[in-house]
Parts: sequence; structure tokens; C-alpha cells
Amino acid sequence: MTLSNPERRRCMATRKDGERCQAWADASGLCGMHGPNAHQLHVLGGRSRAKHHMLETRMNPKLKDVVELLGMAAKQVHRGEITPAQGSSLASIATALIKAVESAELTLRLSILEMRVNSGGSESDDFGT
Ligand SMILES: [Zn+2]
Repeated sequence: MTLSNPERRRCMATRKDGERCQAWADASGLCGMHGPNAHQLHVLGGRSRAKHHMLETRMNPKLKDVVELLGMAAKQVHRGEITPAQGSSLASIATALIKAVESAELTLRLSILEMRVNSGGSESDDFGT
């Protein structure tokens, strides 16, 4: 059983900041971000950032703080500043909070729909009907 692969090398590319890339290289001697498929990975990264932006702008503002807190907690667990158990505890509380906000929001939206239906739907809406 081998615990480490001595053949494993670091990427040969130089980063934008002039430092040598520290990522593990594949057979080409380059990492995924510097290798032949780098363009595809960068495009995927851009899409991911775009989705993140969309999520941020469309997210319920009440939940932004919770999501930020979760992101911070994940980093703190990664850096060893809080224990994984503390991180899990925060995640459980955050999940409960998110469910409560979502539930309240759905109840409100349903009430609005019920009011529209019960009023005969004769009110004009935004669709010009
Ligand atoms: Zn690299």
C-alpha cells in the first residue's frame, strides 16, 4: 500500500502574480486550471460566479446574513478556528432559520393568491388581461 505517490508533481505554470502554481499537475505537467482544458474550466467558473451573483441578487434579504454566516463558519472550520461540531451546530440553526423564513414567505404568497382567487380574479394584473 502506498500512502504517497512520489511521481506526483506540482504544476509547472507560473501564476498571474509571478509565483509558481502550487496545484498538483496531471500527466501533462500542468494542473487543471493551466492545462489543455483550462478554458473550459474558466468558463465553468464564470458560470458558477454568475449563478452566485444571481442567487445573491434574488435571495431573500433576510437570508443573506444567514448564508454569509454559514460561509464564514465553513472557512473557520477549514482554518481550525472553530470545531467541526461547532460548525455543524451553526449549520443546524441556520437550516432551521432558513426553513422558518421560507415557510413564512410561502404562507404569505399563498395568502395573496387565495385573496386574488376569492375576489373572483377580476382585479387587473400585470399581464394586461
Ligand atoms: Zn497550475
